[in-house]
Amino acid sequence: MPSLSNNTSNSRQAFLFQQLYEIFQFIYKYVQSMLFIKQQTPVAKAATMHNPIALQYYKGKTLVLDLDETLVHSVRLGTTENNISPSIKKTTIEVTSDKQSILYEVYKRPHVDFFLSTISKWYRVVIFTASMSEYADPVIDWLDQDQTVISQRYFRQSCLLRNGNFLKDITIAESDLSKVCLIDNSPAAYELCQDNAIPLPTWISNPKDDCLLDLLPLLDALRFTADVRSILSLRDSDHVC
Ligand SMILES: [Mg+2]
Repeated sequence: MPSLSNNTSNSRQAFLFQQLYEIFQFIYKYVQSMLFIKQQTPVAKAATMHNPIALQYYKGKTLVLDLDETLVHSVRLGTTENNISPSIKKTTIEVTSDKQSILYEVYKRPHVDFFLSTISKWYRVVIFTASMSEYADPVIDWLDQDQTVISQRYFRQSCLLRNGNFLKDITIAESDLSKVCLIDNSPAAYELCQDNAIPLPTWISNPKDDCLLDLLPLLDALRFTADVRSILSLRDSDHVC
């Protein structure tokens, strides 16, 4: 007949064994769940969160935007008949030049506000326009009323005049051409940087224009490339938007 002390010792051993078994089970389930979560993490998310090289590409890109007929269209008051849809947002800007005051009605391309707020989260945004600063500055102020979207502005005096065209040397905005794109409706503007260009159709008044929205998937993808030219140089020069 076993003694009482032997019974107590056996019970303790069984209890300890049970405890160890439960701890082992807990650790096993924890490791398994960690492995499962790691396998389920999307590739893009993993790249942006954990890959320092991808993060480096993501953070350093500059997007240079043209102004007229790319983001807005302006009409000098009193010069032409105005048939632009009242659904399009507009403002009036007074420009003083040579002691003369000129009024312009400036119209926003559809979706421009959403476009600018979205891309400013992805890129350093720069405006490069062939217009004079006296006109363009207040237009940019109107587009970026909180001064949170546009990092820098370049005007006509920063363009190169060649054969009557204003060419844009985007290296003044970003010297490393692997990290900069130019969106412009005028092919002459990107003559010096064809492989960095994203052509856009000229916008005048179409209230159903979706070109800015259509650009967002491309811009979203380009910020993760090591060199934007590796993608943009593949485009068909006749195809825009
Ligand atoms: Mg233009």
